[in-house]
Amino acid sequence: MTHTIELISIATAVIALGTGLVQLRRRKESDLAAPLAMVMFGGGIWAATHSVAVLADVEVVKVVATYLRFPGVVALVVAGLWYCAVLAGQRAVPTRRVVGLLSIQPALMVVAVLTDGLHRQIFSRIGYADGMFVIDYGIGFWVHTAYSYSILALGLLLLVRGLWYSVAGHRKVLVLALLSMLVPIFGNAISISRPEGTEAFDLTPVLFLVTAGFWSWIERYRTEYRSVPVSTNDVLTALGDAVTVLDARGRILQVNPAALALLTRSGAPRVIGLPWQDVVPHDIARALDGVDRRTVTTPTGEVLDIRITRLAVDSGRSRGSVVVIRDVTELEQLRAELAELAIRDALTGLYNRRHLEAGLRRAVDEAADAGEPLAVVLLDIDRFKLVNDTYGHAVGDEVLIDVAHGLQRAVRPQDVVARLGGEEFVVLLPRTSAEMARNRAERWRTTCATRQVRTQAGELQVTVSAGVAELWPGATAAELLDHADRALYAAKAGGRNRVEMPEQSVAGAQAPDAGSVAQVP
Ligand code: GH3
Ligand code: MG
Ligand code: MG
Repeated sequence: MTHTIELISIATAVIALGTGLVQLRRRKESDLAAPLAMVMFGGGIWAATHSVAVLADVEVVKVVATYLRFPGVVALVVAGLWYCAVLAGQRAVPTRRVVGLLSIQPALMVVAVLTDGLHRQIFSRIGYADGMFVIDYGIGFWVHTAYSYSILALGLLLLVRGLWYSVAGHRKVLVLALLSMLVPIFGNAISISRPEGTEAFDLTPVLFLVTAGFWSWIERYRTEYRSVPVSTNDVLTALGDAVTVLDARGRILQVNPAALALLTRSGAPRVIGLPWQDVVPHDIARALDGVDRRTVTTPTGEVLDIRITRLAVDSGRSRGSVVVIRDVTELEQLRAELAELAIRDALTGLYNRRHLEAGLRRAVDEAADAGEPLAVVLLDIDRFKLVNDTYGHAVGDEVLIDVAHGLQRAVRPQDVVARLGGEEFVVLLPRTSAEMARNRAERWRTTCATRQVRTQAGELQVTVSAGVAELWPGATAAELLDHADRALYAAKAGGRNRVEMPEQSVAGAQAPDAGSVAQVP
């Protein structure tokens, strides 16, 4: 029976030392590889020396091999702690202070073992007695054993602590590492607690192969869970979103720090156990009446995105809900800015063509429904190309901006001014007849013609031509704009710096033909 154990022990030594070498080569790929290699070497030495000590016949060989077990044991124990520490999320390379502290006991052991012949504190008896090789343990051995167990207990403690902070997947790995570590400890306890004077045997290095096997499996295949000592609580704490968990009756069960800050803003000293409706700011509670999602703007201007997720219903009974409140103020501002940018002309800041077209369609529908007049004025800067050609594009831009702002200042709040493109503008005038629109366009024209535009090239003067059209029954937005366009052509053809209006109720009137436009001087 004993020899079977020793043969397994030899196999253990070979496997452990071989695997240790492989692990050592993987130390760059995984933080667990180096401690694992050291575990393997320690266990390998222990198993090998143990086999030699048992199988050899020569007394001195048996004695030396028995003492040589200690380096293996020490390495195994320290490496076990290292492995547990790394698996539990500690740093991969221990600090120099830790290395220093852990080196003290091995150094003392070297001295104690070398001088054991003098004091017999490690083994009080070692050698053949009555034809049997006997080892009796001295106080030094027990101190060493107690220390080794403390170190392993520390490793176990780190794993247990890691369990507390770990996520589900990582927890399984930690439990496996922990349970497999108990196997050789159990074996060792049996081995060293044999009665004095009986033949030495040691199950530990053999059983250690079981641990090493599981630990290697973890190192090899479960590394994705390594160094993730994060619990759900940590995640909730780190979240910027305010998370509140409510029970089925709407009482607060749990809040994360962000939620606590939000809920206690109104001065509530504590929130756990209170009905959510009583604690949450009133505007939020009111906004969420009957809905599960809403964006609320608080009186202080914050925009909050609030979502309530009902937890799965258990046999007809609600299990409560989770309220997540996210501050989306910045996002909302950005969205509003982008939305504004999408409808504005970059150069002048006026509305762009896209916005004008949508607004015009709406205005046409509203005017038609209400039976109210609606007029549009199309304006185009005269001989603008000449400004560009004479003074350059930059000066042309300055003129465009000036004319645009002038128009914007001249209209009523309900009017819409847009830049259609180039040097062409349109003004939408709700509840305005063609006659009134023409008068106002005339005013804008004269203002423009008498104004000096200040530019980097000095003061310039430009004129505009305008076409006016009024909505007629059954007309579409496009038709209305088309009429204004024809009137504008007429103004250009008529000599520019003037306002034209087509005969009303001339739907389907011919556009000025291309020839007549081309002839404009
Ligand atoms: P008309 O009196 O017939 O309207 O003559 P015009 O020169 O004003 O008209 P035309 O359509 O020939 O020229 C318009 C010019 O406007 C041509 C184009 O280079 C210029 N333009 C268009 N967009 C911009 C712009 O954003 N900035 C500047 N500086 N010029 C522009
Ligand atoms: Mg022009
Ligand atoms: Mg033009």
